[in-house]
Amino acid sequence: MSIIEKDLHASLKKHFGFGNFKGLQEEVIKSLLSGNNTFVIMPTGGGKSLCYQLPALMQEGTAIVVSPLIALMKNQVDAIRGTSHIDGIAHVLNSSLNKTEVKQVKQDITDGVTKLLYVAPESLTKEDNVEFLRTVKISFMAVDEAHCISEWGHDFRPEYRNLKHIIQRIGDNIPIIGLTATATPKVQEDILKNLGMSDATTFKASFNRPNLYYEIRPKTKNVDADIIRFIKQNEGKSGIVYCLSRKRVEELAQALQVNGIKAVPYHAGLDAKTRSKHQDMFLMEDIDVVVATIAFGMGIDKPDVRFVIHHDIPKSIESYYQETGRAGRDGGEGHCLAYYAYKDIEKLEKFMSGKPVAEQEIGQALLQEVVAFAETSISRRKFILHYFGEAFDNATGDGGDMDDNVRHPKKQLEAKDEVKLLLEIVDSTNDTYKSKDLVNVIIGKENALINSHKTHEQPFFGKGKHHDKLYWMALVRQVLVAGFLNKDIETYGVIKLNDEGRDFIKNPKSFMMTEDHVFDQENDDSIIT
Ligand code: ADP
Repeated sequence: MSIIEKDLHASLKKHFGFGNFKGLQEEVIKSLLSGNNTFVIMPTGGGKSLCYQLPALMQEGTAIVVSPLIALMKNQVDAIRGTSHIDGIAHVLNSSLNKTEVKQVKQDITDGVTKLLYVAPESLTKEDNVEFLRTVKISFMAVDEAHCISEWGHDFRPEYRNLKHIIQRIGDNIPIIGLTATATPKVQEDILKNLGMSDATTFKASFNRPNLYYEIRPKTKNVDADIIRFIKQNEGKSGIVYCLSRKRVEELAQALQVNGIKAVPYHAGLDAKTRSKHQDMFLMEDIDVVVATIAFGMGIDKPDVRFVIHHDIPKSIESYYQETGRAGRDGGEGHCLAYYAYKDIEKLEKFMSGKPVAEQEIGQALLQEVVAFAETSISRRKFILHYFGEAFDNATGDGGDMDDNVRHPKKQLEAKDEVKLLLEIVDSTNDTYKSKDLVNVIIGKENALINSHKTHEQPFFGKGKHHDKLYWMALVRQVLVAGFLNKDIETYGVIKLNDEGRDFIKNPKSFMMTEDHVFDQENDDSIIT
């Protein structure tokens, strides 16, 4: 071990009582201590906070931590003060402080006592704060929840947009560390660009959660009964059931209670006292199940949640990943069960209808991924990890058999010729269409867009009509995951041919496709409408 490594381990022990670093923490900290801009992408629970807390405690000056979550900032400040026994070592600077308190915070910073200063972005934009911070020694800037800077993140905050400017004003050469648990390539690109740190050293942990089992079931009229049956089969285990609306949360919690399940509701419409009571009951295991809207879960650290059920499908793969990620944090069993009907997608689309156009387009593109995920018959783990820019091989990867599609595979069909045709059509149409219209071209279905490009007059128009729309939609998705095509984000989903795809056209190989699940509500009157 080198001197710096020994130093790091000694500081880790001294400040946090841990014997070892977790995952990439040590490399991240070394990078930041060397003065590099550093970018950390780790799933929730990966141990991101320590990546800036430890170097802050080890260095001269104050580290500024930008975070949108006031409650979490407070928890962190309390925890650090508790272990160091120095109150001034960490502070929060926000609008809730009175004049005397602000004075004390500034004094502690000037005296070199404060190592960590947590600020919300809106406090950081205040002129007198910026002016003050320019005059003191800043060790580095940490931007937590850095995805808030991107409109493609699930939690866009316009105030994050100004950060680059403000950081530059506070000091020229202050190293920046950005941290996020959102891993899509587009969000990463936005973070680097918008924080002005495209030179950053990036550290990305795997997003694979091998102990989680992923399952999607069609949503029928009997969804409540199905959920009750599932919970009864898992009696005594802790779980969360997510619903879209407060009303549904109340109804379902009642239905569970009537059926002898120890369950409580949780949503933002309940008063603070009831919410915190219900949360405590869950943590203390007085009850087994929380039926909740997405208001529940942020910062809840219950390691033995054994199942997460989605009564309604979430609006993005990120949300699905975050919410299912609350299961099995102790490494034990974690069953993730989601109910899906296309009707629910239409409901989510309706919610977006009043929003600005760009936001709607992004929302649509994210929803289409959810549809693809629900309907796919390929490994769900592989799908999720591909979405996060990570390759996964079911034969060799951890947790490769932990989803419904792998455990109960659908028939596979040879699709070499069809893949070739698909790739050739993408090539011939010059990367013009999103998947739906591309499939319309393949099966020969005209519409205004297709006609405006005169694609309906092309010899390849309708060349794939021996298969139906569902077949081709499934194939497009699988060819995307296989990496022969890319989906362009800037244009909200236009399909483009890449070099691997060009190779395939030249040297076609066997391609085994699995047909998608059919969630066909028109032909099944048991499906909720
Ligand atoms: P994130 O911000 O990535 O969601 P946290 O920073 O909240 O993760 O850390 C998750 C948990 O891991 C916390 O309970 C934290 O105390 C613990 N932890 C972090 N680093 C270590 C370590 N080196 N050894 C043991 N536990 C750690």
